[in-house]
Amino acid sequence: QVSITQVSKSFGKHKALDDVSLELEPGSVTVILGPSGSGKSTLLRTINHLERVDEGFIQIDGDYIGYQRKGDRLYELKEKAILRQRTEVGYVFQNFNLFPHMTVLENIIEAPIVHKKQTRAQAIERAYQLLDTVGLREKAHAWPRHLSGGQQQRIAIARALALNPRVMLFDEPTSALDPELVGEVLDVIKKLARSGTTMVVVTHEIGFAREVADRVVFMVDGKVVEQGRAQQVLNQPQHPRTRRFLARVL
Ligand code: ATP
Ligand code: MG
Repeated sequence: QVSITQVSKSFGKHKALDDVSLELEPGSVTVILGPSGSGKSTLLRTINHLERVDEGFIQIDGDYIGYQRKGDRLYELKEKAILRQRTEVGYVFQNFNLFPHMTVLENIIEAPIVHKKQTRAQAIERAYQLLDTVGLREKAHAWPRHLSGGQQQRIAIARALALNPRVMLFDEPTSALDPELVGEVLDVIKKLARSGTTMVVVTHEIGFAREVADRVVFMVDGKVVEQGRAQQVLNQPQHPRTRRFLARVL
């Protein structure tokens, strides 16, 4: 369970997140919609403590992200503990960023060996399971540059899953792809959703949201203006900004 409680974050005078609260139930899929600059990426980055919040707090299964509670105060964790926490949150970006000097298999086994003290043999066994999940077992020894964008993104997903994260975050995972490659990546994310992975997906793919999301959150100017059950928000949006946004993207 992920809880985001009254989180605010400013860059200079600009309030990128303004009193955002969200609950992510275990195994649920939350889709975040909103216009450019509304704070979607900033929100995902705070869940990983890549951005430090100014106010509020985030918890995963009761643990504070980036902080430790002593008495009634929160103290920021040391760098090492922050890095350890980050291994429990899978993050997939728009631009896949695989390590270019490593094969597909090496990309996937690197973090589990370094951060989770897995043996090479354990990590490789798990990597092949994940390659089966994303349908790319035959590419284990390929170089990232020899893969299509869609294949690279599927490997990036496998790499994130290799750490067995408690939650997966996707930030516009298909927006850098040629249209004909979008489907194969969305299919992998759908498969994960059906397997009960807790996830947050920032996307403009409304069809995907309709099919897969349990909850939809709509953000404008750093605020959550509407959130609820996916069908409710997508079919009967209450807020005028949500209505206008959906009318434009549909
Ligand atoms: P998009 O759909 O374009 O990806 P977004 O909803 O993800 O937009 P964010 O990237 O979270 O929006 O940005 C929210 C606001 O915060 C924007 O006004 C952005 O310019 C600003 N911002 C984000 N990161 C920084 C930063 N590191 N320094 C200064 N301003 C920032
Ligand atoms: Mg963004």
